[in-house]
Amino acid sequence: MVRIYSCGPTVYRYAHVGNLRTFMLPDLLCRSLEYLGYRTEQVMNITDVGHLTDDTFDRGEDKMLVSARLEKKSPQEIAAAYTEAFLEDIGKVNIRPAAQYPRATAYVPRMVELIARLIESGHAYQVDGTVYYDIASFLGYGRLSGNTTDKLMAGARGEPDPRKRHPGDFTLWKSAGEHRLQAWQSPWGDGFPGWHIECSAMSMSIFGDRFDIHTGGADNVFPHHEAEIAQSEAIAGHRVVSLWMHGGLLMLSGSRMAKSAGNFFRITELEEQGFDPLAFRYLALQAKYRAPLNFSPEGLAGADRVLRQLRERVADWSHGDVDPDEIDESWDARFRATIGDDLDLPAAMALVSELVKSSVRPRTKASQLRAWDRVLGLDVGRAVPESELPDGAADLLRTRQKARAAKDFARSDQLREQLASLGLTVIDTPEGQRIKR
Ligand code: AMP
Ligand code: ZN
Repeated sequence: MVRIYSCGPTVYRYAHVGNLRTFMLPDLLCRSLEYLGYRTEQVMNITDVGHLTDDTFDRGEDKMLVSARLEKKSPQEIAAAYTEAFLEDIGKVNIRPAAQYPRATAYVPRMVELIARLIESGHAYQVDGTVYYDIASFLGYGRLSGNTTDKLMAGARGEPDPRKRHPGDFTLWKSAGEHRLQAWQSPWGDGFPGWHIECSAMSMSIFGDRFDIHTGGADNVFPHHEAEIAQSEAIAGHRVVSLWMHGGLLMLSGSRMAKSAGNFFRITELEEQGFDPLAFRYLALQAKYRAPLNFSPEGLAGADRVLRQLRERVADWSHGDVDPDEIDESWDARFRATIGDDLDLPAAMALVSELVKSSVRPRTKASQLRAWDRVLGLDVGRAVPESELPDGAADLLRTRQKARAAKDFARSDQLREQLASLGLTVIDTPEGQRIKR
């Protein structure tokens, strides 16, 4: 059993496809582990409080409250609406739902308890109702990101917060001020949690103080995950996460896809432009998970074309009499080796192409590709979707397939004419009939 905790969305706005790339990482990881014979339990949090607009320098406003003000709604309404949109969007790219989606606001008492323990053990201090983590108190600080306390001191920019002992100290609990919409009581007065303590509290509440894999985007390495390690390990007294995996960023025209910069696409937008949402998944599979990936509409169009072609082939190759399928162990062994090699999905996709072009029997190809699709999640077994075929065409195609198998060529030609009148050209290939609009 592999237990995986993943940083999820901050639900103050719609996710863009860059976010979806990061959320796809634990999905691909779980599917791969399961293919290799493990069981998995995946937890992804929903951040619905405490994520500040400037999370690198631990400043700014709470993103949830900015959206609440702009949309004239309560933070709860904002969270509910964007959580629902998030769940719909991940479904479109075949990200299987996690076992649990804990919400930060449901774990505030647990966060207060952890912060109290950090103060008691000398890892945190309180100033005017705000509690900071003392990074100098944690020897391993900087292990994950390379941002050690010394380097942070040297690189500190701008006006240092006079209440912090070290400019790199981060907020665990923030004093609420007068009119804040979301605030909780605590021993330090009314306030709200910092973003980093949320993930320590949720992961350790659900998994205890040891679990296997923690995922996030490359931009979560610092400060978010560096801070999580400092918090969780100071409390547990030992390593909590065995393995950290970070997904590379999705880039658009040379810069990181980001809502704040206005250069982003939502998956629904791409769908409205006529792309299959799974073409984005296909695109994501072309890059190593830790590498940055350039997004472009042209690249997506290419992925969309190749994916449709792959499905048409699998559909063609799946027809005909059912032979007892010979499972080709060597192909599958190679597939397992690629996903087992630090999740090398581009190599797995290269293997897909190699199999497609190979001389392996068509039916075997189709069944192997469908098996691999348990990992890839591209719906390769979906033929030209019946919804996209004119009424009656699917039946005509099946009847024609049978006629050909029975060598009734007169009937098969007659069916070809009927399909032509529906605007479909049928091409007979050694692997079976293929249709074109
Ligand atoms: P947020 O909803 O802003 O908290 O972001 C959710 C996740 O998306 C975080 O884990 C980020 O690391 C990730 N993320 C943000 N921008 C990108 C991007 N351009 N490419 C890939 N992942 C991203
Ligand atoms: Zn997190």
